[in-house]
Amino acid sequence: MQNTLKALGLKEINDGCSTGKNWFANGEILESYSPVDGKLIGKIKTATKADYQKAISAASDAFKYWKTIPAPKRGEYVRQFGDKLRAKKAELGKLVSYEMGKSYQEGLGEVQEMIDICDFAVGLSRQLYGLQLHSERPNHRMMEQWHPLGIVGIISAFNFPVAVWAWNTTLAWICGDVCIWKPSEKTPLCSIACQHIWNEVAKENNLPEGISCLVNGDYKIGEYLTEDTHVALISATGSTRMGKLVGAKVAERFGKSILELGGNNAIIITENADLDTTLVGAVFGAVGTAGQRCTTTRRLIIHENIYTKVKDSLVKAYGQLKIGDPLDEKNHVGPLIDKDAVKGYMSALERVITEGGKIIVPGGVLEGKGYESGCYVKPAIAEAKNEMAIVQHETFAPILYLMKYKTLEEAIDMQNGVPQGLSSAIMTLNMREAELFLSASGSDCGIANVNIGTSGAEIGGAFGGEKETGGGRESGSDAWKAYMRRQTNTLNWGNTLPLAQGIKFDLG
Ligand code: NAD
Repeated sequence: MQNTLKALGLKEINDGCSTGKNWFANGEILESYSPVDGKLIGKIKTATKADYQKAISAASDAFKYWKTIPAPKRGEYVRQFGDKLRAKKAELGKLVSYEMGKSYQEGLGEVQEMIDICDFAVGLSRQLYGLQLHSERPNHRMMEQWHPLGIVGIISAFNFPVAVWAWNTTLAWICGDVCIWKPSEKTPLCSIACQHIWNEVAKENNLPEGISCLVNGDYKIGEYLTEDTHVALISATGSTRMGKLVGAKVAERFGKSILELGGNNAIIITENADLDTTLVGAVFGAVGTAGQRCTTTRRLIIHENIYTKVKDSLVKAYGQLKIGDPLDEKNHVGPLIDKDAVKGYMSALERVITEGGKIIVPGGVLEGKGYESGCYVKPAIAEAKNEMAIVQHETFAPILYLMKYKTLEEAIDMQNGVPQGLSSAIMTLNMREAELFLSASGSDCGIANVNIGTSGAEIGGAFGGEKETGGGRESGSDAWKAYMRRQTNTLNWGNTLPLAQGIKFDLG
């Protein structure tokens, strides 16, 4: 691991703040322990209020410059950033896996997502198009154009420690915005590694500081960003609890926000499902990243006629899962992020029983050789009712709830009958069932899939969810519009001044 850390520019003690050129930080020390083996990976000096203000001031200055650079030229810097990520994919993927605990394959996948969004942003830098409209007045031209917003504050969660930042920052950069990143206090080293990579691009191109800033610290740094009128847009990814606070604070000062919050995702398995692919989709969705994806499959809503068959094959599949070091590719399930997450998992399992559910694949914390960090838990399955309070709540751990249905309408009501609205899926080979699920009377989620699971979105589509998931959209499609402001322009090239709506104003 030491070589990996070195290759990514990480030291024993790291300054947690950077404006893209210099590193600094004068706050408390944060220690980053790996959930994989419980070892200390490195120390990080966090930001003080003064450090934060240094970043804001650099970003404010940089915006004056960056917004004047043609968008395709900004795209060229993003292309170079993507190339550097390609060169560092193995190292960064390994660090993601070691600091966060997801499998090495998923760590690599996360870096690949960064590379993909760079490619997307490069192309988009030539496509930030507005509309040309017909004016009702003669010799007038009307159009809409898009301008950058200013400073974008990015608050990110631990479970996607690098990709979510890249989703936001690459789009924001090509749109002409400058960014300040407040990463999760649980994965600070990943953020420092990413910033080093950007700093190289900035240095090689002689770019000013402030285009991409990093401020490490806990929720208080997030609050500075949220309350700061210098920050035009806050893109916050994390729990619904956090999103409620952030959304209200930003709205109070008329700032813009993109909220990407918790999910409670279900797969409906109909009588017409291909059960082989269903099993893979459901198990990967439920136990991948140890149940710590916002799109993790938490509920299976199964037709009563195939319920027992599906249940039996799930129990068998769970019996074959290998739990252990996520850097060892034979393991399917790695650790939870920390011991607090383990406590949350254990108390959720207790609540399943007290609220009337039935555990059919028991959970528990693993102990002994290889499990010294105390963060490894067994993926569990419970039979439960959709209306149970614990089922309505997102427990960020591998607990899967099974429930039965009779009619598809009832199944869709159950799927939609939770406060969250991120991802959903139906497994069916019947066209009518699939189309109903995708129709306005179907899933109410931001993502609705057919014959694939709930997790594993591609960057080309807009990503995000409804209801308590926050309503934000990031990544592909026209999500870029959230990082810009729209301006309507009307231009009169005639020699009279006709007024709209035919209003007469004659000066005689
Ligand atoms: P969290 O809410 O605890 O923390 C997320 C970030 O918010 C951290 O950087 C944290 O420091 C910051 N924060 C916390 N309180 C804040 C406040 N009052 N003001 C400003 N910032 C504050 O979430 P987590 O445990 O890191 O991540 C797990 C959660 O994130 C899950 O609910 C998961 O579903 C969600 N998530 C959602 C998406 C999505 O795209 N919808 C993606 C990834 C994760």
